Amino acid sequence: MSTKRIFNFNAGPSILPLEVLEEIKENFMNFGGMSILEISHRSKAFEAIIESAKENLRALMQIPKNYQILFLQGGASLQFAMVPLNLLDKEADYAITGYWAKKAAAEAKLVGKTNVVFSSEEKKFSRVPTPSEIKTTANTSYLHITSNNTIYGTEYHAFPETGAVPLVADMSSDILCRKIDVSKFGLIYAGAQKNIGPAGVTVVLIRDDLATKNYHSVHTMLKYSTHTENNSLFNTPPVFAIYAMKLTLDWLKKQGLEKIESLNRQKAAMLYEAIDGSSFYKGSADKDSRSLMNVTFNLPTPELEEKFIKEAAAKDMSGLKGHRLVGGIRASIYNAFPLDGVKELFAFMKEFERKQ
Ligand SMILES: *Cc1c(COP(=O)(O)O)cnc(C)c1O
Repeated sequence: MSTKRIFNFNAGPSILPLEVLEEIKENFMNFGGMSILEISHRSKAFEAIIESAKENLRALMQIPKNYQILFLQGGASLQFAMVPLNLLDKEADYAITGYWAKKAAAEAKLVGKTNVVFSSEEKKFSRVPTPSEIKTTANTSYLHITSNNTIYGTEYHAFPETGAVPLVADMSSDILCRKIDVSKFGLIYAGAQKNIGPAGVTVVLIRDDLATKNYHSVHTMLKYSTHTENNSLFNTPPVFAIYAMKLTLDWLKKQGLEKIESLNRQKAAMLYEAIDGSSFYKGSADKDSRSLMNVTFNLPTPELEEKFIKEAAAKDMSGLKGHRLVGGIRASIYNAFPLDGVKELFAFMKEFERKQ
């Protein structure tokens, strides 16, 4: 059986820690004479898994007591709808910093008036706003931001100050990549499949006062209160995905968020150094908006980019092709991506440039 691992730079679903994959394999059948795929979501064994996942998340992110943790389905994309369906009274503010931010705003528009309070679309989404660039409007129910723009390789390094207006963030591609202050947010959501687990589960952190907002008459499954009142067990949750996420959170907790963050900064700095130290590679994000998780850049021509991707793949570096909307190269270096793989890419970038 082949167990060879290559360097997986995919944007999502993406790399998981090898220790987690091995633990899944080892414990796959080990749930009281059953497999994890077979256990009841109402069993004691699963109750322990879901509680441990929540405890881990609360400890890692230092989530205050007045926030609830939900494990939902439908991906970040369903949150684009659930956020306005539950929280948008008459109007909501959106900062448009990329493809996903636009999609989120489009769903809000179906519910109420949507104010674009910032857009970097004319600059090809090469940057995110500074806190002082954003002013919330008078009648807004919340401000929605996308903390990391997976496709464009940009990330907020300081968050807008919104006062009493709840700040809502899509953190799908940078949750737990660094320390953040959860109390600055009213709601945070993230599909697990980029930084904290496999596809199939979406984490929602919601402040208590927002969990009961119900401005529109929506279906039971789409109400946050349904899920907060039922500990994410209103219906059958994605048992396996939650289990795998719990193990990933165990792994993160063992490392400690400080160490993870410093490693993430080291990894990203190495690739940006390769870009800045050359006139061959050109970073697509403004320097002060650069992402720790998705490093995006271009080569002088699309032909060279294709060659770069092909030759990298021959060296066991996979998933470097930029998103189809923007082309170029994208190296996604999430929490589980090893420093060795970044060093390998760094060396390859130098060598490829020299050869051209
Ligand atoms: C991938 C991604 C999404 C889409 O997530 P789904 O779980 O596929 O719905 C949304 N927002 C961001 C920032 C993403 O990176």
